[in-house]
Amino acid sequence: MKRGTEVGRGKTKVLYAHSDMADALVVVQQDDITAGDGAKRNTIAGKGRLAALTTSRVYRLLNACGLPTHFLSGGEDEDANEMVVRRCEMIPIEVVVRGVAAGSYLKRNPGVKAGTVMAPRLVEYFFKDDARHDPQYTAEQIVEEGICTSSELAVMTELAPMIFDILAHAWRRQRVLLVDLKVEFGRARRPDGGTEILLADVIDNDSWRIWPAGDQALMLDKQIYRNMAVPTAGDLDALKAKYEEVAERVGRFAQPAGGLVAIVMGSSSDRPHAERISKALAAFGIPARAHVASAHKTPAFALQRVQQIDNMLADVVYITLAGRSNALSAFVDAATANPVIACPVIGANWGGMEVLSSLLLPSGVASSVVLEPENAALAAAKILAVNDSVVYGRVVMSQYRSRKQIMEADGHAGSPQGNGRAGGA
Ligand code: 5GP
Repeated sequence: MKRGTEVGRGKTKVLYAHSDMADALVVVQQDDITAGDGAKRNTIAGKGRLAALTTSRVYRLLNACGLPTHFLSGGEDEDANEMVVRRCEMIPIEVVVRGVAAGSYLKRNPGVKAGTVMAPRLVEYFFKDDARHDPQYTAEQIVEEGICTSSELAVMTELAPMIFDILAHAWRRQRVLLVDLKVEFGRARRPDGGTEILLADVIDNDSWRIWPAGDQALMLDKQIYRNMAVPTAGDLDALKAKYEEVAERVGRFAQPAGGLVAIVMGSSSDRPHAERISKALAAFGIPARAHVASAHKTPAFALQRVQQIDNMLADVVYITLAGRSNALSAFVDAATANPVIACPVIGANWGGMEVLSSLLLPSGVASSVVLEPENAALAAAKILAVNDSVVYGRVVMSQYRSRKQIMEADGHAGSPQGNGRAGGA
């Protein structure tokens, strides 16, 4: 037991100080289920434990992807429904991301057909105030009322659809449509005295709408409860079975799919390139194995290697470090039905255009051609991400970091208008 004194209480959870860590809290989820801002309330024995399982499993996926979250540990059965989180000051805004029109959006927009796909995804803000039924706020209102700064809101507005995207991917792998999602953020102290925005609060089966096979009639989430006028004991038992199913399914979110990249070099002199690729793949958590094989000199051996690799219990993507003739890429591509990415090793005497024309003109060279080793690793990660939500989320986060770098570079580019051109327009 890590619980210290109680420090706060929500509609369905209790927060305690952590008995040994001053900057952590213990979250215990309750067996209550409520709707209509608490107007309808029931108790389902064991719901708190299922909510803790669901929340901690969602957060394990998001943490593995590199998202900044408050989640530290716990939530599984042996933790007695205790989740340890970083202490932060909650920002009283519910950030809702919608991929499909449903719920309150339809009430506010009666002209929109239920089930309309929202592209791009819609981000909405609701101020947490039960007495006023959580009114919708604009970004301007949030900042004007001092709820958070505009830069904090910008971070929340960028992170929320990424969180949605990662969870939508995890559900999609189980043929379940994530319709919408509510998240909340907190402000945590950094060791350097500054603050940072973290995804906080619980994310459980009350926080989203999920429709198996995209069919609303098959919904698994809290909407089932919202739709019940006066729930009977039987209704609540059936609802609990859905919560159990969701907790179990969410347990599969972060399971590794066992993807692997086989780097095939035409010569051992390509090793520095292979090492750059392995290092970039490691950042996505993807194992790589390197081989040397020549299409010209050892064709039978090269074919045998490809067959051995194809027979492994893994999803395989090949990256070939091809020489100028690119014969190795074409050879491997013909020998396997798995994807092959050609990453030409550009020697000192090679002009970039010459490489491109020699690679792109002949047909059947490889599934794709990528010039930089790090980009070849990213291309392989994207292929493996189709079947692996952790890898997918890490790709999402790497693209987020790249965007941030460009925006920061633009901010430092010396233009008073910040348009990236030194000396202004
Ligand atoms: P809506 O605005 O359509 O009622 O809800 C949008 C999404 O946010 C739904 O997935 C819903 O479950 C979630 N949501 C809205 N309000 C709350 C709330 O107070 N608590 C939780 N956990 N989720 C909410």
